Amino acid sequence: MSMKIKKQAILLSLVFILIIFIFNIVQQKDTSQSCLSLTFDDGYKTDYSTVVPLLKENDFKATFFLITSYYKSGQSYLLNKSDIKEIIQEGHEIGSHTISHLYLDNMSTEEIYQEIVASKINMEEDFNISISSFAFPYSDYNRRTLNLAREHYDNIRFHDYALTNETDIDKICTKINKAQKKGKNIVILFHDISETPNYWGTSIENFEKIIDCIRKSNIIVDTLDGCNNRK
Ligand SMILES: [Zn+2]
Repeated sequence: MSMKIKKQAILLSLVFILIIFIFNIVQQKDTSQSCLSLTFDDGYKTDYSTVVPLLKENDFKATFFLITSYYKSGQSYLLNKSDIKEIIQEGHEIGSHTISHLYLDNMSTEEIYQEIVASKINMEEDFNISISSFAFPYSDYNRRTLNLAREHYDNIRFHDYALTNETDIDKICTKINKAQKKGKNIVILFHDISETPNYWGTSIENFEKIIDCIRKSNIIVDTLDGCNNRK
């Protein structure tokens, strides 16, 4: 092989390697798109009256973590079964947040089974759907409860960003933008959304500010199950 042909062959190989390298980068970018899940805990009535209409305006789907004894309680400040059926019809996900919202760490094996597994079976029967997401009350878990939850659910939500009425909304916006830039998923945890939020609540004004940040960031918004299945 002459020197000239040799050089050309080397050059060609280098170009080929470069093309493969660029192709990989483009592919990686596609598969590491970030996805944001809005999650709402405990089943407040405002999920139905305030949150769902705002989500609909923005074409966002979210995940609602429900407690079976709460939605069966008949309390007017909590969701009931017919509210939840409508939420499901809107395309949102519901997940289990146990039967009684107690600390699970010191419970017996039978009690833990009830809270983690029977709650799922219960909800599946009540709404005729399959439940694939679970959230621990108070983010309280140990190896035993985590293993059981993993056996029965595809998605487990830990405390990511739990908002209170004192949360600095700019910080949440920064976290959303960072997740978007790094191609990471992000989960935000809300409780009651109302005009007069308690400590764990968020005002409607602040919730709308967060929606605004999400829209500006262009991050994909989906349910917890939806985001996990995109990866
Ligand atoms: Zn809770």
